Amino acid sequence: MSKRIHKIAAIGGDGIGIEVVDACLEVLDALAERDGGFAFDVESFDWGTDRFKRTGAFMPEDGAEQLRAFDAILFGAVGAPDVADHLTLWGLRLAICQPLDQYANVRPTRVLPGIQSPLRGVNGDELDWVIVRENSEGEYAGQGGRSHPGLPLEVATDVSIFTRAGIERIMRFAFRLAQSRPRKLLTVVTKSNAQRHGMVLWDQIAAEVAAEFPDVTWDKMLVDAMTVRMVMDPASLDTIVATNLHADILSDLAAALSGSIGVAPTANLNPERETPSMFEPIHGSAFDITGKGVANPIATFWTAAMMLDHLNEKPAADRLMQAVEAVTANTDLHTPDLGGKATTRMVTDAVIDHLRGRNS
Ligand code: ATP
Repeated sequence: MSKRIHKIAAIGGDGIGIEVVDACLEVLDALAERDGGFAFDVESFDWGTDRFKRTGAFMPEDGAEQLRAFDAILFGAVGAPDVADHLTLWGLRLAICQPLDQYANVRPTRVLPGIQSPLRGVNGDELDWVIVRENSEGEYAGQGGRSHPGLPLEVATDVSIFTRAGIERIMRFAFRLAQSRPRKLLTVVTKSNAQRHGMVLWDQIAAEVAAEFPDVTWDKMLVDAMTVRMVMDPASLDTIVATNLHADILSDLAAALSGSIGVAPTANLNPERETPSMFEPIHGSAFDITGKGVANPIATFWTAAMMLDHLNEKPAADRLMQAVEAVTANTDLHTPDLGGKATTRMVTDAVIDHLRGRNS
């Protein structure tokens, strides 16, 4: 019987991004070997800040086009202390997400076994969320500009764009996701008290789409009040949908509440599968720990499980998450971000051992 082949583009990027993607490719190999029904055909790309410094571009001009040939993209992190963050973000991550129309950014947050949330007494039963971030427009639509540089009348604008089509598709995605989870609960984050055009359209369309999902219970929260609720009453939340900017901020808070940014994964999905989706850890390139061998690879392993799910390899995705949870449950295998002494190598080997059945 021929194996199912999944073509993966691996972009480590910068700093620890390269380290965690390398670790993840080892884990994926072990997983494919164990399963036997599928294999990965991986091509690695050296896109990132070094390339930018050498050539003036983070990736080739037709980079996003090249990626269309793949089934999925595994991404590390991009960013360096000596290059402005907005250049990096627009030069690589957004330069991939936007042309490939990966409009749904999905960020699961859960307190994994063995990991301590900074919230007292909170574990995976109380904190188990999925944040859906609108990933194609809103505050990061790229509209705006600067005029009269250096003069007293210098002006800069960033214009938020909210379209009916853009809001409808992300709301439908979020309601569908909420419907697929046991609690069938969705919180729509907004700021329509202060932003009285785009955010009011956002609320209005949320209510319209809600009518298509009578079995989903939903509510609406102002983004400022949402930060309080996430900290004070985490168990009252399940699926959350928010704009590009709001979800960007809330998901960093969520990652911190789950114990470490080193365990938080994300997926940039094109739910219709017209283009490849991209899977990455939430964390950045973390130059303070680059080269020390202590980057926590768990976020990248978790995002690989999301990638397997997206590639319709659900049993392999579940097996990988079981291995990840068995490893986090052992505090001897915690990296320094979780208060432990383990290395990237130790965590990776432990996950691989578990997958091979040597540790289960
Ligand atoms: P950005 O590229 O978004 O500017 P950054 O590289 O400055 O981010 P963050 O990802 O915000 O850093 O992480 C903040 C700090 O958390 C890092 O400097 C690092 O010390 C720690 N950290 C982040 N990710 C990990 C990880 N996977 N393992 C261990 N520590 C991590």
